[in-house]
Amino acid sequence: MRSRLPDSRGAWFSPRLTWPSFTPGTESPYDAVWALLVVRPNRGHADAVKFQLRYCPALAQKPKPAKDAEGTSKKPKPDPFENPPADLLVAAIPNRSSPTHVLVLNKYPVIPNHFILATKTAKAQTDVLEEDDLEMTYACLQSWAEGTSPESPRRLFAFFNSGDHSGASQAHRHLQFLPFEDMAGQSDKEHWRLLLDSMNQALEGDEKSGFLSNLSLPFRHFALPIPPQPTSTSLHHLYLSLYCQAVDYVHRFRGVAPEPSQGDDPRSPPGAAISYNLAMTVDAMAICPRRSESTSLPLAATNNEIDINGTILGGTLMVKDEEQWDTLKQEHGILDEVLGQIGFPVNSNI
Ligand code: AMP
Repeated sequence: MRSRLPDSRGAWFSPRLTWPSFTPGTESPYDAVWALLVVRPNRGHADAVKFQLRYCPALAQKPKPAKDAEGTSKKPKPDPFENPPADLLVAAIPNRSSPTHVLVLNKYPVIPNHFILATKTAKAQTDVLEEDDLEMTYACLQSWAEGTSPESPRRLFAFFNSGDHSGASQAHRHLQFLPFEDMAGQSDKEHWRLLLDSMNQALEGDEKSGFLSNLSLPFRHFALPIPPQPTSTSLHHLYLSLYCQAVDYVHRFRGVAPEPSQGDDPRSPPGAAISYNLAMTVDAMAICPRRSESTSLPLAATNNEIDINGTILGGTLMVKDEEQWDTLKQEHGILDEVLGQIGFPVNSNI
């Protein structure tokens, strides 16, 4: 079956998602993961949100890049997506002769089948996404779902981290994919679902604009449904309207007027005006503006920081430290505090 998405060149395109020989070895921590469902207090809302909590002690061994006082990475690192090795390279797309993007297996997956879409040439992670980035992303989401059946469902979740406070670690532009079935793993598939799927209500003030949210979440976010068979242009418009709304919210929250070059036309400046996470499935897209990459729990542990990236919009959170794990397991309310600190507060007057 071919993808339904006509690409910007007017052709039909469906990437072949066949894995190369790579099997994660000792470098990958995913064997050492225990997953658990955490039920958040539902703050008076009927539809309680459930987060999946993962404990991955192996990640604590991973050195963090040095950052300066502004939180900017200090020294340039090798670019893992510039020339990916054959055992990680899934495909060059949309075709081998003139690829715009490459699909690469994550060398350090915590969740099986984690893979990455990177631009063929090194574009900036902090630039506003271009139409072909979303076109390729959607083509992968759709291609993955081919062959889905009630007995063996196949759903893919995409996310993008952009900016110093988003949880991104690589400067070369890349979006990432996780199969829902691998995220769910052994956890209770009946009760856990992608957080993005639960963003289906209008916050007061958003009724006219059509932006959707999950009203029980303590961070501001904006979601929109993706209509069936979108064009790459319509996908890009959806993204830009979410992005502009998030930029506007952050500026109003901070009480600053957007700079002229960034406020009116987000396409003219390449650099994104805010840090944010983007999440996408074939059904919906969401953006969550970020104000902090990590948050710390009030614990005695030497490493009490929790780093958060776009996987949070899938409804999964990973901790590296046993004390963090125990605390979050026992006191679910702390999760609300964590989530409230990494994003912007929900304020319908802004
Ligand atoms: P982020 O931290 O959001 O910028 O995402 C970067 C992703 O690239 C992470 O999922 C890393 O595990 C993954 N990664 C890091 N180094 C490599 C590499 N050499 N090859 C493939 N994936 C990598």
